[in-house]
Amino acid sequence: MQCTEIQELIFLDAVGAADEPMRSAVSRHLQDGCIECQLAQTEAKATAAMLPIGLAPATPTPALKASLLERLPAQRTSATPTQANVEAKGHRAADNRPARRPALWPMVITLAMAAAFAIVAILSIDSNASLAKDRQAEMLAVATLKGSLARDSINIHKLSATMTHLVLAQQQKISFLQARLKNAMALEKMVGSPALEMASLQGLAPMRAAWGRVMWNHKLKMWKLCAFNLPALPADKTYEVWMITAKGKKMPAGLFKPDPKTRSIMMTPTLPPHRQIMTEIAVTIEPAGGSLQPTGAVLLAGRINSSL
Ligand SMILES: [Zn+2]
Repeated sequence: MQCTEIQELIFLDAVGAADEPMRSAVSRHLQDGCIECQLAQTEAKATAAMLPIGLAPATPTPALKASLLERLPAQRTSATPTQANVEAKGHRAADNRPARRPALWPMVITLAMAAAFAIVAILSIDSNASLAKDRQAEMLAVATLKGSLARDSINIHKLSATMTHLVLAQQQKISFLQARLKNAMALEKMVGSPALEMASLQGLAPMRAAWGRVMWNHKLKMWKLCAFNLPALPADKTYEVWMITAKGKKMPAGLFKPDPKTRSIMMTPTLPPHRQIMTEIAVTIEPAGGSLQPTGAVLLAGRINSSL
C-alpha cells in the first residue's frame, strides 16, 4: 500500500473507525519504519483528540442520534456486532485480498465520517449530561450553603439576644452591688466615728418581745434604726417611725416592713426639714401608705436626746 492510502487508514484509526485488517496494515507499515506515516499518525491522533473541543456542545435530534448510532456499530469492531457484520468480517478475514480495497475507500471514508460525527454527537451528549450533572451539584451545594447560612444567622441572633440579656443582668447586679457598697461604707463611717450615739428601743404591749436600737451621728447627720422580733403585718398595714420633739410634736420619719424571714429591719429614719431637739422615737402600726399623725398605739419606743 502507498503512504497516501496508509495515511487515510491512520485517520480512520485515529477517529476509531478502522477495523482489524486496517489497523494491521497500518501497524505493518509503521513497523517498516516510515517516518512520514509515523508523523501523520501523531498528527491524526492530535486532530482526533481536538474534535469534540472545537465544537459547541449540541444535542442531536433523536432521529439523527438514532441514525448515527445505528450506523456506528457496523463500522466499529468494539460495538456489538450484528449477524451480517460478523459474516462480513469473516469474509474479509478469509479473503483479505488487495483487489477489494479500491472499492472499499469511498464507503469507508463516508462511514468513517459518520462514525466521527457519531463520536462528536455522543461526546456532546456526554458533555451536556456532564454539564447538567455539574450544574445540579452546584445548585445542591448552593442550596446547602444557603440553609447553613440561614441556620447560622438564626443562631447568631439567638446568641446576640442571650448576650444582651446577660449583659443587662450583669449591669443590674453591678448597680445593686454598688448601691449596697455605698451604704455599707457610709454605715462603717458612721459607726466608726466618735460622734456615734445610740439609744435602746423597747417593745410595749402587745409587742413586748420586740426590741431595737437607734443610732445617730450628728456630725455626719446620719440615722439608723434597727428592730427585731417584729410580727409580720397584713398587706393593708405598715410600721411607721415617729420623731417626737421636746414639745411633744410627732413628726413622721418613714415607713418599713420587716424581713419576713428574720422578722427584723434596719432602716434610715427621715430627718425633719429643720433643726430641732428630739427627745423620743416611736413606732406604731398604720394603714398602708402611712399617716401624718399616729393613729395606732405606740409599740416600740426609746428616749433620745439629740440636737439635729
Ligand atoms: Zn508511509
